Amino acid sequence: MVVGAESSAELFSQAGNLMPGGVNSPVRAFNAVGAEPVYIEHASGSKLYSVEGREYIDYMMSWGPLILGHANMEITSTITEAAVKGTSFGANHKNEVVLAELISQSMPAVEMLRLVNSGTEATMSALRLARAATGREKVIKFKGCYHGHADSFLISAGSGALTQGSPSSPGVTRGAAGDTLLADYNSIVSVKECFELNLGEIAAVIVEPVAGNMGLIPPVEGFLAGLRQECDKYGALLIFDEVITGFRLGLGGATEMYGVTPDLTTLGKIIGGGLPVGAYGGRRELMEQISPLGQVYQAGTLSGNPLACAAGVRMLEILRRDKPYTELAKMCQALTAIMEENIAEAGIKACINRVGSAFTLFFGVESVNSYDEAMSADTAMFGAYFRGMLERGIYLPPAQYEANFISTAHSIDDFEATLLAQKEVFAALV
Ligand code: PLP
Repeated sequence: MVVGAESSAELFSQAGNLMPGGVNSPVRAFNAVGAEPVYIEHASGSKLYSVEGREYIDYMMSWGPLILGHANMEITSTITEAAVKGTSFGANHKNEVVLAELISQSMPAVEMLRLVNSGTEATMSALRLARAATGREKVIKFKGCYHGHADSFLISAGSGALTQGSPSSPGVTRGAAGDTLLADYNSIVSVKECFELNLGEIAAVIVEPVAGNMGLIPPVEGFLAGLRQECDKYGALLIFDEVITGFRLGLGGATEMYGVTPDLTTLGKIIGGGLPVGAYGGRRELMEQISPLGQVYQAGTLSGNPLACAAGVRMLEILRRDKPYTELAKMCQALTAIMEENIAEAGIKACINRVGSAFTLFFGVESVNSYDEAMSADTAMFGAYFRGMLERGIYLPPAQYEANFISTAHSIDDFEATLLAQKEVFAALV
């Protein structure tokens, strides 16, 4: 019986009978790192606490949303107050308007937006709008960028890599795959080629302006500006998927950091303050095509949920008040600089990519600027590193191709403990 289960191992074993792989999102099964997942009982600040009562310093931070750490008092008290007033109205309320205004003020390219419940919904809806607005069907995405699990995005390189994708999951139709073209992140040449081979057919280019789902890869100089240029040249829309980067890199996200303006922006994670949320938005004349103003249909029973909106509003208010970005970037820089020293001292082949408060340590490679370089990372070594760190109370995202996040709740003590554990694990790895 699940009710009596008290250990992570027992719970995972029971979960396997009840949910595919025992989990509600695949990476949580720890398959990529050869370990058994830890079940969390509660979390606070920079720490996760397992059902066994073990404490872990967390660098996953719920995959990015928790920029203020777990169970931040200001956020949790806001959620509690909101819950007492009703958990779902299915009708309009003030915080939807406040959240939309806060987002739009920080991201001027988002003149109008629609709130949804997840990043997947946001990107799927933005793509529908781009297709409707341009009257075209094809989309260019980049190998290694992740935009949620809608059919159009579950595409891997087909045989003619740059021309047509093939489904990366059973259940995705060849039709859906055929409308998605794959280009190489950080290669404008590959984007030009896609446009030239599909003249007048491409509705949009969708990109993570800082790639976060093949490990963290920043855009090379001129890449985002180049995308803007090519989209303008060929009459396609540029969609920045800022589900990770929005309010993580700064109040204006990657758009502000790199000074390139997209037509449409997708958001999630941080704007829900740790509750499920997403949003897509952009130029007014595009967003006015969304139902009920326009013909492009998109709806949601729980969209604009009062708890998520209250948490999101509070989160954005705190970020505007405290402006933690410079300090977070400094902390991340300091932490990863010592990690680089640890790497050099241990004589391990590895490198670290960092942007703001996010970073990825890639094993087995000297630099990573592209999907191909990321794919040559040593995932077996990452697995061993992950297990060693977990044993020592450091909880990393359970796959090589993920970003680590730090929060305002992380302390110097956390970093010292992390670096000490890392030295020990590196020594065991070589
Ligand atoms: N876009 C990006 C860049 C993401 O990283 C993710 C999820 O990690 C998504 C979209 C999908 O968001 P969700 O998991 O909320 O559906």
